[in-house]
Amino acid sequence: MPEYDILIIGGGPSGLSTALHLARDFPELATRILILEKAHYPRAKLCAGGLVIDAEILLQRLGLDVSEVPHVDADRIHFDFESRGLHIRLPQRHALRVIRRDEFDNWLARKAQTRGLEIRQGVAVRNVIAHQDCVVVETDQGDFQAQVVVGADGSNGITRRCIFPNAQVHTARVLEVLTPTTPAAAAPPDPAKRTSDAYSDLPDLGQERRGSAHFDFFPVLSNIAGYVWDFPTQVDGEAMRCWGIYDTNLLASEKRPQLKEPLAKEMARFGFDLGSYEIQGHPIRWFSPRTQMSAPRVLLVGDAAGADPFLGEGISVALGYGALAAQEIGEAFRQGEFSFDGYRRRVLKSPLGQALIARWTVAHIVYRSRWRWFQILAWRILKPVTVLLAWLFILNWGKRMRPTP
Ligand SMILES: Cc1cc2nc3c(=O)[nH]c(=O)nc-3n(C[C@H](O)[C@H](O)[C@H](O)COP(=O)(O)OP(=O)(O)OC[C@H]3O[C@@H](n4cnc5c(N)ncnc54)[C@H](O)[C@@H]3O)c2cc1C
Repeated sequence: MPEYDILIIGGGPSGLSTALHLARDFPELATRILILEKAHYPRAKLCAGGLVIDAEILLQRLGLDVSEVPHVDADRIHFDFESRGLHIRLPQRHALRVIRRDEFDNWLARKAQTRGLEIRQGVAVRNVIAHQDCVVVETDQGDFQAQVVVGADGSNGITRRCIFPNAQVHTARVLEVLTPTTPAAAAPPDPAKRTSDAYSDLPDLGQERRGSAHFDFFPVLSNIAGYVWDFPTQVDGEAMRCWGIYDTNLLASEKRPQLKEPLAKEMARFGFDLGSYEIQGHPIRWFSPRTQMSAPRVLLVGDAAGADPFLGEGISVALGYGALAAQEIGEAFRQGEFSFDGYRRRVLKSPLGQALIARWTVAHIVYRSRWRWFQILAWRILKPVTVLLAWLFILNWGKRMRPTP
């Protein structure tokens, strides 16, 4: 049976971040790490691809320049209730960078490989069995053995299901739709004008929403505990829009319309007919302060541990978990002690953990407050207070994470 020090199950942002941080901070372990990924890059991953500033900070600290990945920059993020609310701009930079996950994850995996990390693609893990002195990982291509296993296999991951078969799970429902930038058949883009910022040359995109990302919390009034979004994006260099709806399921016991109804309503305001486009759905497992994140010799990261409950934002969070898990694993090898019983506590105390706790609290307040006046107060009347609280407690945690040694 092949033996490694560290097996990482899943080559998405959380698994790759764990490996990249280990290679940077504990180079002696780099050649003893294996990442098992069931798909082949570039692989599809349903995701709107919004990268917040924290993701970019963490990537920069790894010496990676995410502007190499095709992207669209939104210079404002709007948080609205029934189309009016507040917006966030960042001084002299974009507020949100939007990438496609097939391109982003492929890029990150190539960066990991160029740093000497081994990735085996097309290997699906079937079972994870933790013993006192090792972990056995069963796959469709034979068994592997490791000192430590990292479950980075996403919201439906096998690692968590094997290690915590009876744990309570909180999952959000999410639908996503890609459309052209205008509902009417728009003139096809001129390929000669394509750039890494696919929006830069488009004069006729809906001017007001062009270059901005929108979240609207109006579905809360109909017991959908979440929001509808609309981001600029690009697919193969062609400008598109990405729409979707997120529901934490916090109001699942109430009577709710079909999830696609509020999304259809929002798209119709801009002349788009939801029925004309392919709708895709995927759950997001979200963080709760009581979430179990480790067992002896096994750590969970990314969606497997829990994404942001408030917005379902998980890319920066996945990168952040990777940084924390790498520290935990590196120290465990230095001390020869693999219980990982302090991992959850250290995650919760970290800037990432503090931001996740804040978002968990905000999700419970905002999504359980189904009164119109509350939503108007939060998004329109108390704008400066809301922005300040968001800046202090929700965004900007990446800077406070332990910097490059
Ligand atoms: C519709 C939708 C929209 C979203 N939009 C955003 C957004 O705009 N911004 C944002 O920050 N977040 C967004 N998210 C959340 C974000 O996609 C996730 O939080 C993020 O992908 C988590 O990264 P991860 O590495 O933990 O898991 P994943 O990205 O899910 O990666 C897990 C990897 O593990 C592999 N894997 C799974 N099972 C196995 C197995 N048995 N064996 C081997 N490999 C396995 C998978 O193939 C995959 O490559 C969105 C999610 C959804 C569903």
